Amino acid sequence: IGEPSEQWREYQGAPTGTEIECKGWRQEAALRMLNNNLDPEVAEKPEDLVVYGGTGRAARSWDAYDAILAELRDLDDEETLLVQSGKPVGRFATHERAPRVLIANSNLVGKWDDWEHFHELEAEGKIMYGQMTAGSWAYIGTQGIIQGTYETLAELGRQEYDSNLEGKIVATGGLGGMSGAQPLAVTMNRGVCIAAEVDARRIERRLDTDYLMERADSLDEALDNAEEAAEAGEPYSVAVEMNVADMLEAMLERGFVPDVVTDQTSAHDELGGYYPSGYSVAEADELRESDPERYREESLDTMERHVDAILELQERGAVAFEYGNNLRGQVEDHRGREDAFDFPGFVPAYIRPMFCRGRGPFRWAALSGDPADIHRTDEAVTERFPDNESLNRWIELAQEQVSFQGLPSRVCWLGYENDENGLTERARFALRINELVADGEISAPIVVTRDHLDAGSVASPHRETEAMRDGTDAVADWPILNALLNCAAGADIVSVHDGGGVGIGNALHANNHVVLDGSDLAAEKARRVFTTDPGMGVIRHADAGYDEAIDEADQSDVAVPMRDR
Ligand code: NAD
Repeated sequence: IGEPSEQWREYQGAPTGTEIECKGWRQEAALRMLNNNLDPEVAEKPEDLVVYGGTGRAARSWDAYDAILAELRDLDDEETLLVQSGKPVGRFATHERAPRVLIANSNLVGKWDDWEHFHELEAEGKIMYGQMTAGSWAYIGTQGIIQGTYETLAELGRQEYDSNLEGKIVATGGLGGMSGAQPLAVTMNRGVCIAAEVDARRIERRLDTDYLMERADSLDEALDNAEEAAEAGEPYSVAVEMNVADMLEAMLERGFVPDVVTDQTSAHDELGGYYPSGYSVAEADELRESDPERYREESLDTMERHVDAILELQERGAVAFEYGNNLRGQVEDHRGREDAFDFPGFVPAYIRPMFCRGRGPFRWAALSGDPADIHRTDEAVTERFPDNESLNRWIELAQEQVSFQGLPSRVCWLGYENDENGLTERARFALRINELVADGEISAPIVVTRDHLDAGSVASPHRETEAMRDGTDAVADWPILNALLNCAAGADIVSVHDGGGVGIGNALHANNHVVLDGSDLAAEKARRVFTTDPGMGVIRHADAGYDEAIDEADQSDVAVPMRDR
């Protein structure tokens, strides 16, 4: 990838303020979001162009990064730049309402769509791993993750207890990059979290950043404290330094059954991610070097015990779900255990009902760099949706407990739900932001984007489209239609990726950005894109036969041809 660019060293994150270096705010937004992804405060290894998620990159090489910046600065309001796996490859005259940037990352033709082929091409500099939001310039750091975890647990509370998690104990594993959001997401939902983590440094990091309240010296101490907090109805989180499989077995031996059991250790990678039982971190790291095959086998043995313990806790009454780390898939594939899938993944269990209504992780960033602009949008979202309790509580908690990284930004799950004027939730809010920019209450344009994990934008059989009612888990027409439709609707950046959090060949997904600069054109685009985008979630799930989606289509007047009325 070459030596880090001088321009990147000078930027140290997104440029801010109201002066722009490009010919318009749409191009400028792309330039700022690319640099925001590579902000040392935001990215994991920015000097390697890696934003997050293993090797998820924002550009293919440092030369490609420089070339993208040069193209963006020169790009007219009636042109479109094409980026193929992190490299600018073409520029065409289009029109003002067309996207300014189109991006395709990591895509391979079916028969060749695997890690082996990808790695060969990557080594030759011909392709790049775009993850989800890394290569589409939409990553905003940890707060993008915490809100999804918060929403999952909020939905669990609604479904299982008709309330929040007050008085409930959640047992889980992992306190790493994304998994470290779990304790705070549990306490934000007023519950109690016991997390097993093998690595003491990870526990320290979560304590230092206030994602975790305490660390216990033993499991017994953790259980005592957790039970006391749950009885008092107090939010509380505690970590125990131990292997999660050992922790769950010890709970079973003691006859302790948590209300909820889940897991976010890096089980998707049995060698580089998950830790086998019976070793300290240092010993396991040594074994990985000296005898990787033995490490793999012992790691998979521990995963099988881990799944057995979850199944037994489920049997004894715990609510069990997998949190998108492929733990069940590993035990099924490598240990031949078909019953591994006897507990559900988080999407079918808690997220799909929201997807059916087009709800998903809407996010926005203040291009000014001024936190006051985001605080004004916080007020606007709560003014717009005063009856949405979960959303109001989220905004309050995010303001109190989640710090900004890079460009000030916010995430909020919003959906379709047309009002009397035919405007979706997402469109209503985006139009309000656009007005605030036009009135000068917000000092510079706001760019609105989202995670690729959204209602109608992903095909991923082990995660977002696991166990679809009509068996269409692997049908990838939907994310492609999503990207095409968002181009037609006039989004400013549109992207389509292969891979993401589950790896090459396991998922296709798309996303978009719209720049709200206060203009009539921005309002027109926002009205259309924030209807088509969540609308894809409604039609995709209505097509698969979900009642909630059919109900949403009826209530919000979404056209779904050929369905039984
Ligand atoms: P990470 O590697 O940064 O953290 C995982 C943590 O688990 C590490 O701190 C590690 O020390 C710990 N760990 C590993 N094996 C363990 C064991 N047996 N017992 C106790 N602790 C153990 O990874 P991350 O970013 O936190 O993500 C974790 C996993 O969760 C990944 O597989 C990721 O794909 C998945 N995930 C999915 C979603 C989603 O689907 N939306 C969201 C978040 C995370």
